Formats: sequence, structure tokens, C-alpha cells
Amino acid sequence: MMIDRVHGYYNRNKETMSKRRREAYLKGRLSQILRYGYRHSKSIRSRLDAMGLKPEAIRDLKDLEKLPITKKADLVSAQKENPPFGGFEVIPKKGLRRIYMSPGPVFEPGERDDEDIRWAQALYACGIRKGDIVLNTFNYHLTPLAFMLDESLRMLGAIVVPIGPGNLSMQINLMRQLHVTGFLGTPSFLMSIVEAAQGMHLDLKKDLSLQAAFVGAEMFPESLRQKLEEKLGFNIRQAYGTVDVGCLGYECPEKNGMHISEDVMVEIVDTETGRQLETGATGEIVATTFSKVFPMIRFATGDLSYLIGSPCPCGRTSVRLGKILGRTDQVTKVWGIFIHPWQVDEVMAKFPLVANYQIVVTRKDYHDEMMIYIELKEEVADKISLKKRVEKEVQEVLKVKGEVVFTVRGGIPDRAKKIDDRRIWE
Ligand SMILES: [Zn+2]
Repeated sequence: MMIDRVHGYYNRNKETMSKRRREAYLKGRLSQILRYGYRHSKSIRSRLDAMGLKPEAIRDLKDLEKLPITKKADLVSAQKENPPFGGFEVIPKKGLRRIYMSPGPVFEPGERDDEDIRWAQALYACGIRKGDIVLNTFNYHLTPLAFMLDESLRMLGAIVVPIGPGNLSMQINLMRQLHVTGFLGTPSFLMSIVEAAQGMHLDLKKDLSLQAAFVGAEMFPESLRQKLEEKLGFNIRQAYGTVDVGCLGYECPEKNGMHISEDVMVEIVDTETGRQLETGATGEIVATTFSKVFPMIRFATGDLSYLIGSPCPCGRTSVRLGKILGRTDQVTKVWGIFIHPWQVDEVMAKFPLVANYQIVVTRKDYHDEMMIYIELKEEVADKISLKKRVEKEVQEVLKVKGEVVFTVRGGIPDRAKKIDDRRIWE
């Protein structure tokens, strides 16, 4: 039997707010952080001043479009000029608790009193409860994620084993000795633990006490989720966030996208113009946080997704983030439509005979052309029908027409780009 602890709310008042109350709540938080930031953060003040705006001019989500996007690179260069935090920070009177460093490098001030409940909401939605003994396998070395989760577990009343990643047999031994009930980590690390435990001839459902697992920080394909859930016997949920802006979305029992917390504003924008896109359209995830220490206004994550506005049967009323479709820098635009390697993988996974593939985009007479080169595992009798089926699937999923060309085994060079953009722009 499947253990299912994922129902319920961390904060029912917030999570089931009516649309109107939610809008009013967000407006309030936004104007609060802009006024606060304008007064205390050099970066927010200079950004508003540069646009000739006062905080009062930005009143709701739509108004945010008036402000420029901040990219990771902007943060890195601002911090080089103005170390360590680049003027984005507001140092509280009581001082800082920690200074984190994330790849970039980006320095982040750590709050003295953590008030951000977004990760706690995510952990609750994945089934972590008060009294759980939780293995936190995220890295406690310099970056903030493990600490944010650690604080959030405290909010939930769970007990943390701050193990960090590595040493599989120690992880498994600790799980058994301490009767660990919860796991936090990357999905691939959870898979490594599962495989190692099987290698030790353990019965995952009997010899371990695990009842909930929270995964994040990397792509979580459905196939991997299925495998893990089957082996472990409980539902596994993921959340999405970044070190700069914290948690932006988390899955609920329905597993139909990631609920955006009440305490953050998320936009999906056109990467080129910074304009907001309509619900359902794919664009870059941009977040505005309400942190009193390191407020971020329109921070671009570099990740692509879309918004889901339909009501969720779980009762949470927030808009949801769809799948993370990849990074903005990996995306190729063909006929004006984004194509990501991840989507193509999904198409090809439906054709078990495909051993390897590559998409090549060229441009002829001002028109994009997309060729899909495919190596087959074995020869098939009816190649024409297979070609038609793949082309149909490509058209349906990618919304772009492509032509399939079969090539010999080894015809696609090793380490070739999955999507090779050979267009020359002149
Ligand atoms: Zn839901």
C-alpha cells in the first residue's frame, strides 16, 4: 500500500485565499517591499530612480513591467563593484546571521530570524510533518539551500539530521539507526541511495522507515518519479526555487504543476522584452521577493516555464508553475516557437527504436527549416510509417514542423548538440 501523507495545508488561511483576497494581499506586500527597499536598498532605489519612478507607481503585478529585469550577471557585476552584496542588501540593525556564497559567485546575506515560510509550505505539501526525523542531504557548504530547508524543518517541528551529500552507506546506516522518516535531496541522489540500499539487500519498505521525500535542485523526470515511488511505496513531491529568490513553487498531492507561494510574485516573461506573457505561454521565470534582508525585484532565474491558472482540486488557490522546460540559454527558437532539448527528449522517448537523434535548424530564403536526424537501434521494415509517426508527434508536441531523416548508426557525432542551430543571421 502506498503511504500518502501529502494532503492538508501548512497554512490554510493563506493557501486557500480567494482570488480577490490574494490579489489584495500581494499588492500590499509588493508596495510594502518597494517602499522599504527604496528607503533601505541602494540597488532598488537606483533602479526606480533611473526610471523616474517612485515606489507608489508600482501597485500590482502588471505594474512590475515598468521595472527592469535583474539578471544573475547584473548581480555578479554589481557585487564586484560594490562588495559583498552589490547594494541589493538591507543589513538589519541586529546584524547578519550568515553570509552565503553561490556559484557566480554571488554573495547573499542570511537573515537573522527566518520568516520565509515558502520552503516550509513546500515541505509540508510533500508530506513532511511535525516529529519527523529528516535527513537533509543538500549541501551545507556555503550555499543557502540546505540552511533554508533546515530552518523550514524547524518551523514544521521536524528533527533534522544535517548530513549533506555523499557517503551512501553512512546515509543508509543513519536512516536505519535513527529511524529516519523523511528525506530531502536531489532526485538523482535519492536514486543512488535506493540503489545502494538494494545493493545491501535491504527491503526498502521494511528495513527503512522513510515515509516522505522532498526533491529539488535538478530536473525530475516522471519516469524517475515512478521508479522511486514504486520502490519506496510513497508519493514523492518536488519544489522549484533558486538560491537568490528562494522557493517559487511546490507540488501538492495532485501533482499538476507547482503552486506559487503567497509570499512571492512570479512572472513569466518574454526573455527579450521583459514583458509578461499570458497564462500558458512559455517564457522565463522572473521573481520578486519580499525578503527584508535581500529583496529581489524582478530577478530573472534563467529557467523556462509557464503558468497554469485552472483551479487545483487540492484546494490551494494559487496559480501554478508548469514544468521547468530548461534554461533560457539552451533554448532554440524555430518559427518563433521555443524548442528545448528536454521537450525533444520527451518526444523521442515515445519511440523505443530511436537510439540517438539530433535536430538541425537551418535557414533558407528567410525561412527556418528543421531536420530531425535519427539513428535506429535496429532496421525496421516500414521506415516510412515510422518517419510519419515521429513527424506527427514532433508537430504535436513542439508545434513546429520538422522532417525526419534516418541516418546510419554512429552517423550523429558523439557529443553533438541535441539541437544544433546552424542558422546564419545576416
Ligand atoms: Zn494543488
